Amino acid sequence: MELWYTEKQTKDVGITCKVKQTLHVEKSKFQDIALIDTEQYGRMLVLDGTVQTTIEDEFVYHEMITHVPLFSHPDPRKVVVVGGGDGGAIREILKHPGVEKAYLVEIDDRVVEVSKRFLPEISVALNDKRAEVRIEDGIKFIKENRNQFDVIIVDSTDPVGPAVGLFVKDFYQSIFDSLKEDGIFVAQTESPFYNKDLISRVYRDISSIFPVTKLYVCSIPTYPSGYWAFTMGSKKFNPLEIPEGRIKDLGTKYYNADVHKAAFVLPNFVKQLLE
Ligand code: SAM
Repeated sequence: MELWYTEKQTKDVGITCKVKQTLHVEKSKFQDIALIDTEQYGRMLVLDGTVQTTIEDEFVYHEMITHVPLFSHPDPRKVVVVGGGDGGAIREILKHPGVEKAYLVEIDDRVVEVSKRFLPEISVALNDKRAEVRIEDGIKFIKENRNQFDVIIVDSTDPVGPAVGLFVKDFYQSIFDSLKEDGIFVAQTESPFYNKDLISRVYRDISSIFPVTKLYVCSIPTYPSGYWAFTMGSKKFNPLEIPEGRIKDLGTKYYNADVHKAAFVLPNFVKQLLE
């Protein structure tokens, strides 16, 4: 018998994958967690019916949410990931030899545990001695730490449940205060096709706080519309003015110096969202 998994990405559009096996299902304090093995994308982490990451395409998201801000900073040493319980962002951050400490601040310990058990390729660096996993609300953690970090990455779920407060102006102000005087922040900010209002609002809010605000994009097949946006707020450094030769080969599959620049080149319909 064939089994298929469908995520309704909007009320009218979905993605459907043929399932090899359902490996794990549970209800945590915060969300429904499922781990399924699919024919096309391999193992897939699903939270509240929404694909978070898959073995086949995770590299795009995790490389783009980390290396773009880290290489935009001349010397990132202390980095925070808010959310990101699968560990993929931490894995990429720790490829930077200068990083001394990378905090993973994830509200749901069960996401971390399930990822360690079923997604070892993605969670591999969570036991690294430079990584520190904190199970707590990222909003609280960021509020409590002032002038501490070089780079903050918000690798959150969609803006529902505990992630709602990660998409509001107050939180971006807390992030600004939590960064050092030349810090950089990036958040995943959904699909330019399906989340137009969110992208416009978030860009406006971030640019009212940070002197440099930029949006960049990449292609991720399992995310809604396959086209994804990240928004960067920087206190000092412009990600498009980085010195020749800074971007080193870290063995990435998507990210490189050309992709870094090209990711900020936006089609007109996306530019219009930022006006
Ligand atoms: N790459 C993913 C995507 O865009 O679909 C996100 C991956 S990661 C699994 C998202 C994590 O954010 C979830 O594990 C969720 O528990 C966590 N999260 C949501 N709200 C949070 C909050 N307020 N503080 C810390 N973590 C939060």
